[in-house]
Amino acid sequence: METLKGKTAVVTGSSRSIGRGIAERLAARGALVAVHYATNATAAQDVVETIGKAGGQAFAFGTELGHEGDAERFWAEFDVQRRAFSDDGDTGVDILVNNAAVALRDHFQDATVADFDRMVAVNIRAPFFIVQHALDRLRDGGRVINISSAVTRLGLPEVIAYGATKGALDSFSRILAKELGSRGITVNVVAPGYVDTDSNADWLRHDKDAWEETAAKSVFGRVGEPEDIGDAVAFLASDAGRWITGQHIDASGGTRM
Ligand code: NDP
Repeated sequence: METLKGKTAVVTGSSRSIGRGIAERLAARGALVAVHYATNATAAQDVVETIGKAGGQAFAFGTELGHEGDAERFWAEFDVQRRAFSDDGDTGVDILVNNAAVALRDHFQDATVADFDRMVAVNIRAPFFIVQHALDRLRDGGRVINISSAVTRLGLPEVIAYGATKGALDSFSRILAKELGSRGITVNVVAPGYVDTDSNADWLRHDKDAWEETAAKSVFGRVGEPEDIGDAVAFLASDAGRWITGQHIDASGGTRM
């Protein structure tokens, strides 16, 4: 069902993993998708080609987030690649998904200022200013969807600083929903639980015991897939999600309920 036909979507960090799942789901529903990456242009191109083969439309653009001026560079690079994709002069955006993040695993006593600052810069400062610099291009009636994490509910000690950045993202999203409401723009958070992604590969994908233990935490008895998150995002992005704003949508498959 092409519920997003005519819409332009930007998904940060969609060259791999959950972002890729979101990009493919939005494209399958008819959106033109801007596939953003940090450094892995090859992976982003693969997403663009996969979407194209399935009959969808996408283009890639790269900017490493977490550095001074990243939001300005992000949109400047978006504009270059959007114009290269089509010379219709339209650089407007209907759906903005802030998905890119870094999760550095540290217990409280081992946390460092460098890791803390990096996660703040990528996980909350970058989305904050990416939205701020998009106010003119975000179309009325649009969508901002921020990918947080179930850790803000679960309280996992091994990711205390990461959890704090996601808590900040939750709070930002709720306030932003008020800020953008008069324009009919909804702002929501989607909070995944454990998902099989590159960022979890070292401790989850290659360890059978960890996999089974993790699967058992969901009421469905399985580990999440990027597409599970992609479908939740696609719903919020569609017209059917127009009356939902300022919400924190748990997409963890009922993890530790
Ligand atoms: P991955 O680490 O597997 O993928 C990260 C993606 O983000 C890649 O596309 C990568 O680009 C991009 N990226 C990473 N760092 C930067 C940066 N500094 N600047 C720009 N782009 C960057 O992430 P996941 O799919 O696991 O996580 C996606 C989101 O879901 C995050 O917000 C995460 O916090 C959240 N989440 C994930 C869970 C999980 O179980 N995996 C659970 C709960 C929440 P490139 O390919 O160029 O490196």
